[in-house]
Amino acid sequence: MPYEVLARKWRPQSFEDMVGQAHVLRTLVNGLNNDRLHHAYLFTGMRGVGKTTLARILAKCLNCETGVTAQPCGKCVTCEGIASGNYIDLIEVDAASKTGIDDTRDMLDNAQYAPALGRFKIYLIDEVHQLSGHSFNALLKTLEEPPAHVKFLLATTDPKKVPVTVLSRCLQFNLKSLSIDLVIKQLEHILQEENIKYEDDALFQIARASEGSMRDALSLLDQAISYGQEQILNQDMSEMLDSVPKEHFSDLIKAISTTDASQALSVVNTMHEHSINFNQLLDDLISILHHATVVQMVPSTINEFNYEKELIELLNANIKIETLHLYYQIAIQGRREVSLAVDAKSGFEMLLLKMLYFIPFDDVNAVNTEKNTSAGTASKKDDNQVLSNEVASQMPLKGLNTANDWKKLVPNLKLNGIALALADNSSFIKCGEQVLAIAIDESHESIATEKAKTALCDSIKKYFKRDMQLTVETTNSENHMHVTRRQLKDNQDAKQQYEAEKSVNRDILGQELKEKFGAEVIPGSIKPVK
Ligand SMILES: [Zn+2]
Repeated sequence: MPYEVLARKWRPQSFEDMVGQAHVLRTLVNGLNNDRLHHAYLFTGMRGVGKTTLARILAKCLNCETGVTAQPCGKCVTCEGIASGNYIDLIEVDAASKTGIDDTRDMLDNAQYAPALGRFKIYLIDEVHQLSGHSFNALLKTLEEPPAHVKFLLATTDPKKVPVTVLSRCLQFNLKSLSIDLVIKQLEHILQEENIKYEDDALFQIARASEGSMRDALSLLDQAISYGQEQILNQDMSEMLDSVPKEHFSDLIKAISTTDASQALSVVNTMHEHSINFNQLLDDLISILHHATVVQMVPSTINEFNYEKELIELLNANIKIETLHLYYQIAIQGRREVSLAVDAKSGFEMLLLKMLYFIPFDDVNAVNTEKNTSAGTASKKDDNQVLSNEVASQMPLKGLNTANDWKKLVPNLKLNGIALALADNSSFIKCGEQVLAIAIDESHESIATEKAKTALCDSIKKYFKRDMQLTVETTNSENHMHVTRRQLKDNQDAKQQYEAEKSVNRDILGQELKEKFGAEVIPGSIKPVK
């Protein structure tokens, strides 16, 4: 028996066989059961999601010898004829090849004659958007006053190109592209029936590459079966689809989520040795950053990403949403940069390093905690780990560059007592590789005791998880170079007070009160609205 391609062999023959599209099926089944039939149906959706398949099943439902039904028998002459593409009253037209007015006119002229065998004469027009303007007019005429025995089933991937006048005369159904999980389930079902061995990850790769189209997935499955000689292995699929093996990708995501630059570079080297396609890798990275962001915003969506669940959870446990957005931007823009680089590998490396360099201030703490706990459990650190820590300790602290950064940092240090007083009254000078310098006004010098300095320094070391020195300089009050955190707050209050008094003085009622009654604004009595 000649080999029959899977897409044809496994084409659904009834509504129950259809994968996904529950929303469309329900409407169709209810319409059929309640005898509410429309004369024109339009199925829209991307390629390979089941538009014409659904139309053919509907044709069976309408013409089955057992009567109009949502469960055609599948055995009568009509059902078998439609299944084998051999039924006189189902006229299938591919609008992509027959776009001319003559073709359409010939076809529609025959519409007036009664069906030869069935209840209805059914026109199935695929890719209907490709009909010419004249053809659409001819079709519209028939749609406006259709003979009772005619049904139109139209399918298109591009409903925007179908004239509104035609659209408005059709019952429209939008078929969704299929989720990875749905595709995998169907592939598993087919392979079990066909008695072919497979690895789960291999099916994931096929499903992902098919981008929601069942027809594409089945074509790839055909290809995979001959590639792997009756078995479907993950390794084979990586080669066939030129995709990134899951284990390498997992390693990369781990390195990114722990901001481990040295590990990230080593993964990239391994991938390069395995001739990984870095453009594909970048696409995968963009896609998982997108999914992780979606899940972080709407946690219930995690179930939509079953096969990436672990990696998404890893990313989300370590990386905050703002950083994910940043990484996503870097990755998207990286597409261009990777293509401009000397070679794709170095382009990709630069992109990774950019991500890991721009890790925002708040994440330093979370990530460092993570690193410390993992270092604590590991019996020995490898050289790379030590190296990367050394590199990290020589870099200036990210996010602590200005007085404002210092102001934001202090509440996070969990200080109390004298250390808090010192931090509150001191101003930021600079933060270098090992030393953080702050200043205190000489009027507050007494706060800067050794005990306070040690306590503050300990908190800072604890916060940044690295060894730091703290120096406290004394300045005199005429030196306005540095502003303390308290002064910043006081300044803000004073500014608000000034604005409030100014607005009362400007106020017309205030002016009148002053002029007519000699009223005066008592300084300080006006409170700004906070
Ligand atoms: Zn039948």
